[in-house]
Amino acid sequence: MGAVDPVVAAGISRIVSVAVPRPLDSYFSYGIPEDARGLGPGTWVRVPFGRSTVIGFVVDEPKPIAELPPSLDPSKLKAILECGDEEDRIPSDVFALCSWAARYYAQPLGELLAAACPPASLGLRSANREAKELTRTLVAPREIRLNEEQTAALDGLETLRKSAAPGTALLHGVTGSGKTEVYIELAKRALAEGRGVILLVPEIALTSQLHERLEAGVGETVARWHSAMPDAKRRDQAAALRRGEIRVVVGARSAVFAPMRDLGLILVDEEHDPTYKQEDRVHYHARDLAIVRGKDAGALVVLGSATPSLETRERVREGKYASFPLTARFARGGMPAIEVIDLGEEPQVEGIQAPIAEKTLTIMKETLARGEQIMVYLNRRGFAAFLRCRDCGEVSECPNCSISLTVHKRSRELRCHVCGHAEGIPDVCPKCQAVDLDPIGAGTESLEEEIPKLLPEVKTLRLDRDAVTSASRLEKTLNAFRAGEAQILLGTQMLAKGHDFPRVTLVVVVLADALFRYPDFRAPERALQILSQVSGRAGRADLPGRVLIQTYQPDAPVISVLRGLRTEDDFLAEERELRQVLAYPPYGRMARLRVESTERNEAVSRCEAIANALRGAQTAIEGEEPGVRLDFLGPSEAFLERAKGIFRWDLLIKSSSVRALGRSIAIAKRTAAAEKWPLLVDVDPYGLG
Ligand code: ADP
Ligand code: ZN
Repeated sequence: MGAVDPVVAAGISRIVSVAVPRPLDSYFSYGIPEDARGLGPGTWVRVPFGRSTVIGFVVDEPKPIAELPPSLDPSKLKAILECGDEEDRIPSDVFALCSWAARYYAQPLGELLAAACPPASLGLRSANREAKELTRTLVAPREIRLNEEQTAALDGLETLRKSAAPGTALLHGVTGSGKTEVYIELAKRALAEGRGVILLVPEIALTSQLHERLEAGVGETVARWHSAMPDAKRRDQAAALRRGEIRVVVGARSAVFAPMRDLGLILVDEEHDPTYKQEDRVHYHARDLAIVRGKDAGALVVLGSATPSLETRERVREGKYASFPLTARFARGGMPAIEVIDLGEEPQVEGIQAPIAEKTLTIMKETLARGEQIMVYLNRRGFAAFLRCRDCGEVSECPNCSISLTVHKRSRELRCHVCGHAEGIPDVCPKCQAVDLDPIGAGTESLEEEIPKLLPEVKTLRLDRDAVTSASRLEKTLNAFRAGEAQILLGTQMLAKGHDFPRVTLVVVVLADALFRYPDFRAPERALQILSQVSGRAGRADLPGRVLIQTYQPDAPVISVLRGLRTEDDFLAEERELRQVLAYPPYGRMARLRVESTERNEAVSRCEAIANALRGAQTAIEGEEPGVRLDFLGPSEAFLERAKGIFRWDLLIKSSSVRALGRSIAIAKRTAAAEKWPLLVDVDPYGLG
């Protein structure tokens, strides 16, 4: 009698392949317990993995154990410990979207499936309980009358939505032109035909106001979908969506994967916003995935923006997307008047760290005297940009990252905005022991401290990642400002997003210059978008708005556009030409390969080895498709060469062909995998260093 076969002993006759949420490209075979039913692509499973267990997803149909790859020893086969029911499988369309994204972005399918369907949203048996009643009866939808432009846009979009292949369309409307009202009307019509609706917004911060507007507008329950959601709520919502009880979702990036039934409409608000690109852990672009999902579902995809991305504008030019303009603000106040304040010329208020022109202060006082509100935008949090020794010029740098430390006075710390490293503010220069340490450059914290010196009677609220550490804090701050409890709202980028405050008539951009120095080919486009968006916060109701942009570079191209000295079209045409010459998106595809190591030499040499492998294969790949060109740039150090103690070296691949790009990535991955080197792949990268 031979040894007992442990697999047979365990009573296993069938196996499936499972994708686990790890940076691994391969799947793993597991045995199916005899009592498990209804397993197939998209079923979640808890499986033993290494020394622990993980939640993974089945990627194929069950097959007999005889089909186990010969390289696998059947006696080593492990069995699934727990698995989901038929009802909580990832819907086949979402599974297909994840598979597409895994291929296109060269990301592990297991990680994408986990992003689409976080373990918290699964009906794990260990957490099983009665789902709460989620839907509630709302009042009848609010009826509004659209203006002429809105009506034309709605009609055009409705015609597309009802067609056989709706495709993608752009709703190009200036800030406050009523894009959201058009979204609501479109959603109502899709819902009336029994189709589900997804509204994507760039940041969770934006969802609460929009969520309320949408719910009141469509007159039914709208789910909020974001990663900060409590697990139980998320699970209930996922179940309600699968059952078709909730038919509208609003959320950030990951909402593109919401298990919506009979999807008929995807709205992507602020489509140009770079936060749609997910970059931690797994990489994907939510707007681009929305377009893919919409196409597969036969759903209309509407991209809304006041400042569409060059990529989207190019698709419109090519005739691939229809475009509907909203050229005027709905409110009587009209578009805000933009004035540029030349900080090199205008006298500045003395005795404070932030550069505030006397003229700016006067206008702020006049605004406050009329009982109106002000938003002040400064894109640096903290007290000062850095600490510099007056004697030797030494600047305090992070020990882990190639970046200077920011002064945070209230917590008496120098802090790294990359890795979070914090240390006490030194009394003397660590290098020369001199006692004259100067905080240089203003941050939101110093400005908040200085405003009372300028405007003693005024209450200020601050909105940045230090002041607002949770969604509820954020909502509190926004509500307090809306209720008029403060006259000034001071903050970073968080301010720029779609907030609608009727009493804000003045927006002050303290220093626009930092926006021009961002190390990315999209920087000029991005600067224009941010400044337009911040400006768009002024005068949204009946009071006319005014925007003051302070800068030392009044001749910067973006500033000329805002001053009306150049048209936006002219500016964008130049950007387009530049990108065409350099074969940057939208005129070419790009991927960034990043090699990381704690040793600088190792990062460089590995990057070189991968570059050599790619250059060796270049002619062969180019030969596979006529007219295709590949370009490899680098190795070069990342913009932040060192972050969190890790050195980062990059290789950039450019090509006109998605295929050639994919082939190159595969070669790079193989080269790295053979040596067990970690390699990060970023297809369509944003924020290039
Ligand atoms: P956008 O999304 O383009 O920034 P909104 O949809 O927020 O613009 O509209 C700006 C303001 O004008 C909002 O307060 C909105 O309620 C109002 N508004 C827009 N269109 C209409 C309309 N047709 N009837 C009444 N109010 C409208
Ligand atoms: Zn650091």
